[in-house]
Amino acid sequence: MTSYIIQEIKELLNTSKNIVITTHKNPDGDAIGSSLAMYLFLTKKGHNADIIVPDKYPSYLKWMPANDKILVYNDKPKKCNTLIERADVIFCLDYNSIPRVDQVAEPLKKSKGIKILIDHHVLPESNSFNHIISTVNTSSTAELIYELFVDLGEKHLIDKEIAECIYVGIITDTGSFSFACNNEKTYLVTAELIKAGIKCDNIHTLVYDTFSENSLRLLGYCLTERLKVFKEFSTAYIYLTKEDLKKFKYKIGDTENVVNYGLSIKGIKFAVFFTERKDRIRISLRSKGDFSVNEFAQKHFEGGGHKNASGGNSYISLTDTLKKFEDLLPEYSEQLNCKKS
Ligand code: 5GP
Ligand code: MN
Repeated sequence: MTSYIIQEIKELLNTSKNIVITTHKNPDGDAIGSSLAMYLFLTKKGHNADIIVPDKYPSYLKWMPANDKILVYNDKPKKCNTLIERADVIFCLDYNSIPRVDQVAEPLKKSKGIKILIDHHVLPESNSFNHIISTVNTSSTAELIYELFVDLGEKHLIDKEIAECIYVGIITDTGSFSFACNNEKTYLVTAELIKAGIKCDNIHTLVYDTFSENSLRLLGYCLTERLKVFKEFSTAYIYLTKEDLKKFKYKIGDTENVVNYGLSIKGIKFAVFFTERKDRIRISLRSKGDFSVNEFAQKHFEGGGHKNASGGNSYISLTDTLKKFEDLLPEYSEQLNCKKS
């Protein structure tokens, strides 16, 4: 990290401040892990810190240290607005553009607090933040946060609880070290987290062995009834209708990993998961190798993210969205490195 930014952050944190930590809509393990690690670090340093997330997050993250300190903006908009307005410093974690925080965007834009972005997505908005720490070759924002603490000369503050939060960010953003993890640094950081006392096996149980009967059956249903494979385009998708979600008593987080099953089919390089929501179709996209789902999501589905893991939205019906998607595939035939059908 550049010494200029480190110096600036060091000076900012030298005296006690009101600090707000924000992260993106539909917070995932990296968003929550990074935010909690930052919160624990800042409060240890004597700051008055608050975490504001735009909306609900999955229950498999609710065991985490200081989880009870997280404020969901939708539940307490007034309180959150006041905290954002009076903040001296605002950490913006795991997102690259202000619209990614949804309802929090307006108060954030108005606030005079110094905004520090720490993120690993491509193309951070350059005009929206006072300081930017952004690299695309890092496994997770949580890993960047670990590096920041070390560069600030505060490694000694990384205790077991902070280490647990960072570890959750790393494993959830790398599919437990199965993608975005070709960098030795990720493993060196992980080794340090183990030295700080984390128990990897316990954390894996807490994060991954969390199916309810309904959500496991829903996964089975996705695979037997809702999976479509397009071998000629090395592509597979899964979709769920509103009725499907109701039938299986869907709760946030229940379908978190479903998109990845498409990629576990031999030869499939592009996997997509469509879910019919109240106001839109939510889309999760994953790929292997050079095919950029970030570009695909940006171009066709008002989304973005990383080269191999992105999200998007569609505001036409589910049937029309699936048709639109299928009609796009021939255009990408070459990129998907396969024979034309
Ligand atoms: P997921 O499929 O898990 O919701 O998202 C995968 C990745 O894409 C995450 O890193 C997330 O931050 C990013 N992402 C998800 N949805 C959007 C979106 O609507 N716009 C942008 N720019 N990124 C997204
Ligand atoms: Mn992330």
